[in-house]
Amino acid sequence: MAKKVAVIGAGVSGLISLKCCVDEGLEPTCFERTEDIGGLWRFKENVEDGRASIYQSVITNTSKEMSCFSDFPMPEDFPNFLHNSKLLEYFRIFAKKFDLLKYIQFQTTVLSVKRRPDFSSSGQWEVCTQNNGKEQCAVFDAVMVCSGHHIQPHIPLTSFPGIERFKGQYFHSRQYKHPVGFEGKRILVIGIGNSASDIASELSKKAAQVFVSTRQGSWVMSRISKDGYPWDMVFHTRFSSMLRNVLPRMVVKWMMEQQISQWFNHENYGLEPQNKYLMKEPVLNDDLPSRILYGAIKVKTRVKELTETAVIFEDGTVEENIDVIIFATGYTFSFPFLEDSLVKVENNMVSLYKFMFPPQLEKPTLVCIGLIQPLGSIFPTVELQARWVTRVFKGLCGLPSEKTMMEDIIKRNKKRIDLFRESQSQILQTNYIDYLDELALEIGVKPDFVSLFLKDPKLVLKLYFGPCNSYQYRLVGPGQWEGARNAILTQKQRILKPLKTRALKKSSSVSASLLLKALGLLAVVVAFFFHLQWL
Ligand code: FAD
Ligand code: NAP
Repeated sequence: MAKKVAVIGAGVSGLISLKCCVDEGLEPTCFERTEDIGGLWRFKENVEDGRASIYQSVITNTSKEMSCFSDFPMPEDFPNFLHNSKLLEYFRIFAKKFDLLKYIQFQTTVLSVKRRPDFSSSGQWEVCTQNNGKEQCAVFDAVMVCSGHHIQPHIPLTSFPGIERFKGQYFHSRQYKHPVGFEGKRILVIGIGNSASDIASELSKKAAQVFVSTRQGSWVMSRISKDGYPWDMVFHTRFSSMLRNVLPRMVVKWMMEQQISQWFNHENYGLEPQNKYLMKEPVLNDDLPSRILYGAIKVKTRVKELTETAVIFEDGTVEENIDVIIFATGYTFSFPFLEDSLVKVENNMVSLYKFMFPPQLEKPTLVCIGLIQPLGSIFPTVELQARWVTRVFKGLCGLPSEKTMMEDIIKRNKKRIDLFRESQSQILQTNYIDYLDELALEIGVKPDFVSLFLKDPKLVLKLYFGPCNSYQYRLVGPGQWEGARNAILTQKQRILKPLKTRALKKSSSVSASLLLKALGLLAVVVAFFFHLQWL
């Protein structure tokens, strides 16, 4: 008998969970509290309760080739980094292609998810929902929680003495939509995450002055990497991931620091991370350094105190006449519809096996999808999570004992703190390729490079030295897709296509072509180290 699965939320995690359920022959029903798909990526002028809220200008910080689902490349003419409306368009095409909308009950909020009395034998859940004021309950064999974790603002007012007497306006970045209304103001943005950097850069074009207050600093990277390729296609290769794993940590950090600092010296710009030997999520922002260089943004230390109109910083400097403070201080999360004990955050640790399964359940029939912050794109990450989970639901893959899972959670958390440190903003942080491979191994879709090398050396070189994108996990094993090899070999075409908007005449002299060949040979040698030629 097909298993009935409840999917909570129709954002990216919910959509891919639906597809994976269908692929595995399960019977999904998705409950989405709003009237449409897309979750976070569906911009609205107003902030809605219970749904993530973005500003109008949000653009992905992971590129299209690294962010698409593994058997569904983005259209060739899509830009490499996508405006939120364009990404939503991709989700719409995806949902249509795989006929997913028919499984979604819109304007239906999940109120509670409870274990059935016979849970220890059946593993079943009672899911109660509300639609137009009408409450309904139904029984499901499994539940995939895809409700997102950028909904509840983290706004640490107690760390800002004097905020109660501040006479200006203050709010969380979740409330920010666009720069209209901020013309001529003196604005302080708290934090130096991606939201803070985007909002400060945008506002600095309209405001009288923008200040950014950071307690720790951050590495800032450009979306554009070597030769103009998207950063993540160069950064996330198996070759560089292997180097990062085998070289001593200090050497890796030093190399990364050298690489990042080639763009600009972070110390001179007041941005250098305080503990630079830790790898927290970098900021991806091409505007921020230039806005600082123009003086439109001034970087400040931690806030010590606020008065009615001024901000006093830890270094003793004071900025008078501040009109607006924006807390771009990240998010917390909770699952009000779940029993308290199911997904716990204790001692800065999320108690989920591989960021998905509560280890204490007698039956592995409830998971969180997307409750993770990988150093790369979340889209292939949630896809592999959903592919694995649906196979666990079907009994095709198993989980270890509760004790082993708990040990793994603790070990993983220690490693996380060691790499990314303890801050609230890094609680869900994880390495990218290592995590993808870990899930791929569970499913049986990690390519075996040795046997593949004998059959298809050209492909293996691309897999190892080129970008580690999701197509790699459709080459072998369950869910194999015959278009995967071609998608890997043609990715460069899809990167360049949207850039080729001006036809250029090529010079065809023989000497130029010989010179090019010689340079090409040299490039192969050099590129072995920079592995760009495998794109
Ligand atoms: P969401 O998109 O938040 O969707 C959750 C859905 O669940 C919503 O539709 C909501 O209405 C619904 N829901 C919630 N509660 C209930 C309930 N009780 N009942 C029914 N429905 C419910 N990651 C990247 O990889 N690349 C990026 O470029 C990137 N950019 C980002 C930019 C911003 C501003 C932010 C905040 C995050 C970004 N991320 C990025 C990370 C982000 O987490 C993912 O991009 C992704 O959108 C998360 O999808 P999700 O489906 O898990 O959650
Ligand atoms: P975030 O990454 O959690 O960053 C929060 C920032 O607030 C950090 O700089 C943090 O500093 C600071 N902060 C937290 N508590 C503080 C306190 N008490 N006092 C002072 N500072 C404090 O949140 P976010 O920027 O909103 O990003 C959330 C997620 O969305 C991230 O994964 C991000 O990549 C993503 N995003 C992507 C884009 C895009 O371009 N596509 C845009 C926006 C957001 P510490 O580091 O010192 O803790």
